[in-house]
Amino acid sequence: MVSRVIPVEEFDLVIFGGTGDLARRKILPGLYRRFLSGQMPEGSRIIGAARADIDSDGYRQMIRDAIAEFGGEEKSDADGIEKFVAQLHYIPVDAKGEQGWKELHDLIRFELVNAFYFSVAPSLFGDLAERLHLHKIADSSSRVVVEKPFGRDLETAKALNSTLAKHFDEKQIYRIDHYLGKETVQNLMAVRFGNMLFEPLWNNHYVDHIQITVAETVGVGGRGAYYDTSGAMRDMVQNHLMQLLCLIAMEAPAEFGADAVRDEKLKVIRALQDIDPHHIVRGQYDADGDEPSYREDAENLKSHTESFVALRCEIANWRWAGVPFYLRTGKKLKARTSEIAVVFKDIGHSIFPGDEKRHRNILSIQLQPNEGIQLQVTIKEPGPGGMRLIDVPLDMTFAEALGPDAEDSTDAYERLIMDVIRGNQTLFMRGDEVEAAWEWTDPIINGWKARNDVPKHYDAGSAGPEDAMMLMHREGRRWREIKG
Ligand code: NAP
Repeated sequence: MVSRVIPVEEFDLVIFGGTGDLARRKILPGLYRRFLSGQMPEGSRIIGAARADIDSDGYRQMIRDAIAEFGGEEKSDADGIEKFVAQLHYIPVDAKGEQGWKELHDLIRFELVNAFYFSVAPSLFGDLAERLHLHKIADSSSRVVVEKPFGRDLETAKALNSTLAKHFDEKQIYRIDHYLGKETVQNLMAVRFGNMLFEPLWNNHYVDHIQITVAETVGVGGRGAYYDTSGAMRDMVQNHLMQLLCLIAMEAPAEFGADAVRDEKLKVIRALQDIDPHHIVRGQYDADGDEPSYREDAENLKSHTESFVALRCEIANWRWAGVPFYLRTGKKLKARTSEIAVVFKDIGHSIFPGDEKRHRNILSIQLQPNEGIQLQVTIKEPGPGGMRLIDVPLDMTFAEALGPDAEDSTDAYERLIMDVIRGNQTLFMRGDEVEAAWEWTDPIINGWKARNDVPKHYDAGSAGPEDAMMLMHREGRRWREIKG
């Protein structure tokens, strides 16, 4: 099968924080893969910028090493790596000082698409935006890419938005949530809006409930002190889980365009009902043998920050009234997995004698570790012996039908960066969306603080605290198994 790739124009991409962890682990190895697939036009340049006093050759070596460590199968393509690093440059720049800005101005080719990736702490966004303007490096055609976390509450998110708005129009700002760059997330939209089959069923008449799980096996060790100021609600629910919820629940946009899609997502967030505190369970993982507990990892033995959260929420609109959405995410769980499951209602009546099982169709969308979409359907168990029914998964990833390209390992980051170059904001969060998400999460977090809420303990390697199971059990439902 011939893969059709929308070409991008020649560009200059400046990565502030180009020597940092994210740049070395994700951004540069991703751009290298795009380069190999012919999507980085000759003459395009990637310019690393940070305070470290190295030159372009030193930076090229740093990125060769990064590709060797974090690149996938392509890391052994020595010729490809050399051609790629030849397109890299580096300028020592201080976001808070005067160093490097003139050199950066002289290097940028203003006639090309130019984009500035802020892969630095959010406290530097304002400094970068200001200096890019002061030194006339960015203009009304430039694009800026900003990383999470986008604020830690409504107030700080608004402050960040207004800082960026001083220098950039909303059409120039690309707020990254890498979950939106996943192949399967886009496939979810194709399945929903490219088929007649699902739309009539996608509502409270036919859907019993929806579950979204993002489970990690790692703890917070290494970044525990930072994580302790955040917690699962801020770090995962406010952004990734809410974005997935929006895509599952939104109405069909009039077109697959940036504002049409984001308008519909915003309506979902605005329709979320306030949560009853009994419908949220927070947890902290316990020590496991030599492995430290959350509180030890966080270096705060009295911490009340959650490393796990499970909640039940509802969307107050005609489509979803009465349908519970169960969301959970946590560290040190049984397996690493991200899954959305749309669980349809039971059939009303079984005509098959002896068939007591509650057969349900479940559309499950896996984002991690492997991507895929499956539809659980009920069929007759093959063979003689009467009508015995079994539930089997129908694989809708169709890897075999689509050939090797269907397994294209395009990482979310590289896809999103190419969208920046193309000027396509559809898979990026708009400022009002981010603020609306904080508006919903702030009262929950503030409520915990006001009540001095203490997270429940859970065993490392488990599915989370017992109370999280009860959240569903008491309504006659159960979580899907966490399996990698
Ligand atoms: P990091 O490893 O600490 O890197 C920070 C980068 O910023 C370094 O290149 C650093 O280089 C540069 N920097 C710091 N102060 C600077 C200044 N005054 N002027 C210019 N450059 C400066 O952080 P990171 O993990 O890459 O994260 C970067 C951003 O991405 C953060 O906002 C983070 O929250 C977000 N993020 C990271 C990940 C991840 O997996 N790492 C995931 C999601 C989001 P010098 O010290 O040499 O200046």
